[in-house]
Amino acid sequence: MMKVLVTGGSGLVGKAIQHVVREEEGAREGEEWIFLSSKDADLTNKEDTRAVFERHRPTHVIHLAAMVGGLFKNMKSNLEFWRNNVYINDNVLQAAHEAGTVKVVSCLSTCIFPDKTTYPIDETMIHNGPPHESNFGYSYAKRMIDVQNKAYFQQHGRRYTAVIPTNVFGPDDNFNIEDGHVLPGLIHKAYLTQKEGKPLTVWGSGTPRRQFIYSLDLAHLFLWVLREYSEVDPIILSVGEEDEVSIKEAAEVVVECLAFKGEVVYDTSKSDGQLKKTASNAKLRKYRPDFKFTPFKQAVKETCDWFVANYDTARK
Ligand code: NAP
Ligand code: GDP
Repeated sequence: MMKVLVTGGSGLVGKAIQHVVREEEGAREGEEWIFLSSKDADLTNKEDTRAVFERHRPTHVIHLAAMVGGLFKNMKSNLEFWRNNVYINDNVLQAAHEAGTVKVVSCLSTCIFPDKTTYPIDETMIHNGPPHESNFGYSYAKRMIDVQNKAYFQQHGRRYTAVIPTNVFGPDDNFNIEDGHVLPGLIHKAYLTQKEGKPLTVWGSGTPRRQFIYSLDLAHLFLWVLREYSEVDPIILSVGEEDEVSIKEAAEVVVECLAFKGEVVYDTSKSDGQLKKTASNAKLRKYRPDFKFTPFKQAVKETCDWFVANYDTARK
């Protein structure tokens, strides 16, 4: 019997897990799934968090809830990213421990790795040096999950672990142009400027490089980690190094998928952020040599089609 509580169940990754659990693989026999949104409990609040864990008493937790945003939101709000995420993570991990939860899979990100580093980055390098200055609040808060997981194991034998995804995108993303990530931002901007007959403005030089993972691929990997992966040390969930693309290449794929006909311009007065954070998926490949990622173009097309079909209700 596995009772799985998903925090942040209403977000990009949470909705993808809901889709996979309910419409693809299906919940396995003996599994019960509960998806929380911030309406069910404000996880920055310790009492709310305790109460929701007492109510459900999950055996397993996928912990996604976080203050999340793209480069530009991070640059404006390092203090709130640090405080909100530290509160949420401490409340969730401690409430899970008190409720007797045997396994928690939390979510880090490859943008928390040291800025000055050798490449590719791997799981052993999380704490090797300061993160990129644009998102130090978010990064240090996330790094502390790894510290806390080790301590729950050392003192209580709890198998609380974490996954480290690269840049995620897909249906149900936050398509807000100012606050969101690059792909939903470009999709939304191209959709609007296409209608207005104006150019699409890509922020920065277009040269930074990113490994993008489709939210539905990530959801399948999350289920595998929850059911099969037994290490406390985290695991990077990423496409290969050879699948890293420049922001310019990503913008060209968006242009193609939306059949955008206008001009594409680059606003180099805007920040480029971290130039690259190339991650190794060797550990994942050791466990899952046959896992097939959705080709990037297909995943961007599915996301664009979803956004156009759901424009009125999409988060934007
Ligand atoms: P998202 O779409 O912004 O979803 C965030 C989720 O957290 C929502 O369900 C939100 O609930 C919930 N939440 C936020 N503040 C909360 C609070 N105070 N109390 C309770 N719930 C709260 O983000 P996402 O992209 O799915 O991110 C999921 C996880 O993946 C996060 O831990 C993030 O750090 C990590 N991650 C994301 C990316 C990426 O590129 N998106 C990359 C690497 C790692 P409501 O919507 O109901 O308010
Ligand atoms: P990051 O991967 O954590 O840096 O976060 P983002 O998903 O916000 O990606 C930021 C990169 O995309 C930077 O190099 C930006 O200059 C570039 N970029 C280009 N256009 C946009 C846009 O419309 N929104 C965002 N967020 N970034 C953009």
